Amino acid sequence: MIRTTGPLGASGGAGAVESFIVNVGDGPVRTCIACRQKAGRDELTRFVFRPDQHPAVVRDVSATLPGRGAWVHPDAKCLDKALTTAAFARSFRTKITASDLPRPDTEPKENG
Ligand SMILES: [Zn+2]
Repeated sequence: MIRTTGPLGASGGAGAVESFIVNVGDGPVRTCIACRQKAGRDELTRFVFRPDQHPAVVRDVSATLPGRGAWVHPDAKCLDKALTTAAFARSFRTKITASDLPRPDTEPKENG
């Protein structure tokens, strides 16, 4: 007589393999709308088009605002180029007037 006692099947309990996507290192790459060079998000400043605001082109410092974003190098050269050309209009696919553009806050301040 054969008695099969004991646990049927393997009940290990442990060993659950969790697979998750590690997204460290090279993040998404954006293109500066002024110089057309690719750079990581951390290296670029994001602007969004907010038709309900004035000016409509808003600097998205925390890169969390909804809407279509345009990325520009945070240096005077690229910002100036972006603000003086149709780069934003092209990027946002809409008509941008000068009054829609944010004021360049590149005024040199000297501490006396
Ligand atoms: Zn640039």
